[in-house]
Amino acid sequence: MEYEEERQRLIDSLREQGIGEKVLEAMNRVPRDLFIPKKLQSAAYCDSPLPIGNKQTISAPHMVAIMCDLLEIKKGDIILEIGAGSGYNAAVMAELTGPEGKIYSIERIPALGKFAKENLLKAGYDNVTVIVADGTMGYKEHAPYDRICVTSAAPSIPEPLVEQLREGGIMVIPVGKYMQRLLLIRKQLDGSIEERDCGGVIFVPLVGKYGFHIHE
Ligand code: SAH
Repeated sequence: MEYEEERQRLIDSLREQGIGEKVLEAMNRVPRDLFIPKKLQSAAYCDSPLPIGNKQTISAPHMVAIMCDLLEIKKGDIILEIGAGSGYNAAVMAELTGPEGKIYSIERIPALGKFAKENLLKAGYDNVTVIVADGTMGYKEHAPYDRICVTSAAPSIPEPLVEQLREGGIMVIPVGKYMQRLLLIRKQLDGSIEERDCGGVIFVPLVGKYGFHIHE
């Protein structure tokens, strides 16, 4: 396979950063070069975000790794992702759930929804469904979710997402305006929420009813 050496080097550096073996194995199986525009393909295995059009970016590999690690994804999990973008993060999560799991990934920008769908098809992931909609509303159709992964920055935690998280479920979400805190949310069995601050991060904004409001 092309880029095998580059990918192995990236995985080794993520291991040194403390990422768990399960997530490393999953990332080692996903060809990131299939999820970025052709002209950037040679940079696919650099640990940095890359532009994917419409002012959006594919997250840096270490960010995907950290979020997937925090989510403690298990085989068979039903996952909601907000912000499909390139589809890469969804593909890594699909490796972690296995074919018995399912990822619903919501994307606000139609052109990127199409991009994510095409990339996932090319890479052979058929347990990811991409939906073009406002993800701040969640996706009631298949709730509750075992895990929710929000890949853009919210002004605060959107209420519908808390409602649609299963009791015992885990959500990761960057919260804040310019620089954000990555929050790990655990919904207890009594429905209450436990919150942990996992450090400073920078994401593109979550735009929508329960997100930021912008004028385009
Ligand atoms: N997970 C992606 C990262 C994409 S960047 C990847 O692996 O490539 C974040 C994405 O969130 C952008 O594509 C942006 O358009 C999308 N986004 C922003 N607000 C949104 C909303 N309310 N609903 C769904 N997607 C949203």
